[in-house]
Amino acid sequence: MARRLQGKVALITGGARGIGAAAARLFSMHGAKVVIADIRSDLGRSVSEQIQLESGHPVSYVQCDVNAVDTAVSMHGKLDIMYNNAGIAEKKKVGILSVEREVFRKVFDVNVYGSFLAAKHAARVMVPRKSGTILLTGSVATESYGFATHTYTASKHAVVGLAKSLCVELGEFGIRVNCISPFGVATPMCEESMGLDEKALEEMFTAMGNLKGVVLKPKNVAEVALNLVSDESRYLSGLNLLVDGGFCLKSSA
Ligand code: NAD
Repeated sequence: MARRLQGKVALITGGARGIGAAAARLFSMHGAKVVIADIRSDLGRSVSEQIQLESGHPVSYVQCDVNAVDTAVSMHGKLDIMYNNAGIAEKKKVGILSVEREVFRKVFDVNVYGSFLAAKHAARVMVPRKSGTILLTGSVATESYGFATHTYTASKHAVVGLAKSLCVELGEFGIRVNCISPFGVATPMCEESMGLDEKALEEMFTAMGNLKGVVLKPKNVAEVALNLVSDESRYLSGLNLLVDGGFCLKSSA
């Protein structure tokens, strides 16, 4: 297998499960030294150990905080890829009159402020080396409406704005910044927020989706992320790449 990330160091937030774990596995199979930063320590550690066994490349777990970037650099000497995948959604979809301030703040704290911190600390170590790539995580909610909650939609729009703004500042230093925006994928986040199991979620997303005959899996999103962070995409920056099989075009038609 061609190793598209050989020698690269990648920090993936929210890598203990779902899309982040699939990306950690795929990046590692492609030769990257992967550091998973999450808040689920037991799961994060066991997933890291399991991926390292499968790939034969070093995979570590760190608690996700402002020191995660420094920890990754102290382990491997540099940071090439920051994939800020960590994100949360509210447990319930409610109308505007019922949106609670605390819930709104929590979603913005993880989705927006978390992306900001990840990008800031990655830039701190990437700028002096004049190299690196930052990938933030949006959603189809950045291009379609009424599907996700108001709070989640607003937070993911902020993430896209941040990615585009950073792309302009960091281009001078050779650093690419992009956003990846998946359609519905049956992950623990959706199971918890929608109260459905994996099979029911996949049936629902497939029925809603534009591209028939395909079930979007975490691995498929990870494959697009791999393309975005690898050197084959070295002139791609400022993109909000929808992984939606055309869903947003269909829903705006
Ligand atoms: P998930 O809940 O299955 O996994 C997310 C991981 O992030 C978990 O391991 C969780 O512990 C971690 N996490 C949560 N808060 C964190 C924090 N403050 N710091 C560090 N880690 C934290 O979710 P997922 O579905 O794999 O989602 C991954 C990303 O993709 C999210 O940003 C989500 O908004 C986005 N997304 C998901 C879907 C989907 O349908 N699953 C669609 C569009 C976008």
